[in-house]
Amino acid sequence: MSILSWLENQRKLKLLNAPNYSQQESDGSQGLWTRCDHCGVILYIKHLKENQRVCFGCGYHLQMSSTERIDYLIDTGTWRPFDETVSPCDPLEFKDQKPYTERLKDAQERTGLQDAVQTGTGLLDGIPVALGVMDFTFMGGSMGSVVGEKITRLIEYATQEGLPVILVCASGGARMQEGILSLMQMAKISAALHVHQNCAKLLYISVLTSPTTGGVTASFAMLGDLIFAEPKALIGFAGRRVIEQTLQEQLPDDFQTAEYLLHHGLLDLIVPRSFLKQALSETLTLYKEAPLKVQGQIPYGQRGPLTKIREEQLRRFIQSPKNPNYKHLVTEFEELLTALTGEKTSIDSLTSDNLQKAFDLACNTQTRLDWLQVNENKISIRPVFK
Ligand SMILES: [Zn+2]
Repeated sequence: MSILSWLENQRKLKLLNAPNYSQQESDGSQGLWTRCDHCGVILYIKHLKENQRVCFGCGYHLQMSSTERIDYLIDTGTWRPFDETVSPCDPLEFKDQKPYTERLKDAQERTGLQDAVQTGTGLLDGIPVALGVMDFTFMGGSMGSVVGEKITRLIEYATQEGLPVILVCASGGARMQEGILSLMQMAKISAALHVHQNCAKLLYISVLTSPTTGGVTASFAMLGDLIFAEPKALIGFAGRRVIEQTLQEQLPDDFQTAEYLLHHGLLDLIVPRSFLKQALSETLTLYKEAPLKVQGQIPYGQRGPLTKIREEQLRRFIQSPKNPNYKHLVTEFEELLTALTGEKTSIDSLTSDNLQKAFDLACNTQTRLDWLQVNENKISIRPVFK
């Protein structure tokens, strides 16, 4: 241990032993003062709130509650919350020093929230967005089934309505008390995000605040098309000590900070809290004009270009004339061809040029037809798929 880190430890120890003014506030007795977690300066809460909970002494970004963050990010009067009544249950009947149900009740009474995330829609500088904000004060912002479900529902709603999603992460990871059910949420949210980002071609921005760790980092926090972070935020998967012990190596001092991650290419931008709203609104405005990420709505039920799988399905379908739909389909197809080409056309007397044209018209795309074989004016299906 170097002298500097020893001094740092002593300073932290002193801070730990000092009376904690912020505790009074959490008791509900409305304390007036709090202390900066970083430099130890005593701060007047009213002024601190006006400064968006950024320390006057050192510029450290203190934790912000989800409600404060929504007030700050969303235009006044436009916030529409989702699923406020969805509340957690205790499927494993988990108990450590305290039963899980009791912990939940405490947290709910203290924060006024049902679980560790608030989701909803609103306007951000006049731009409609779907916003999810995690709350670290509710059981360390841990991701249980309610957090997962609410975020998934938010993303699915945004996908249907063609809205960009912004998720503000602050979490200690998965919720231990819900075991595998909380780990499941990582896959669930990631799957919903895949549809949002890659099928509906919509924008997702994740904003990482201190701390973003564990299962949240391992899933949606790092999946953003753009990943923003607050200065000096702690972002990582496993704890520093665990990694040091596993690797048997001394890690750099700034390890797992936003600055370190930005330097190593894991983040796109570090934005101070006072500029966050502006940065988000400018990014969203920029993406309005972007060729990708503007499509909105899943192309559900629409006919896309013929994929290999669909070609194979079609091939098998045509190869089985016993299929009751077969005759009906052929009749319908012939009618369609007649309408398109302007003369009576049967499927047997069709040239591939005509068929290609008809397909293009019907699908509204260029379609590959090399899976069809034209022999002596007769169309058959190629036996082996190329
Ligand atoms: Zn400070």
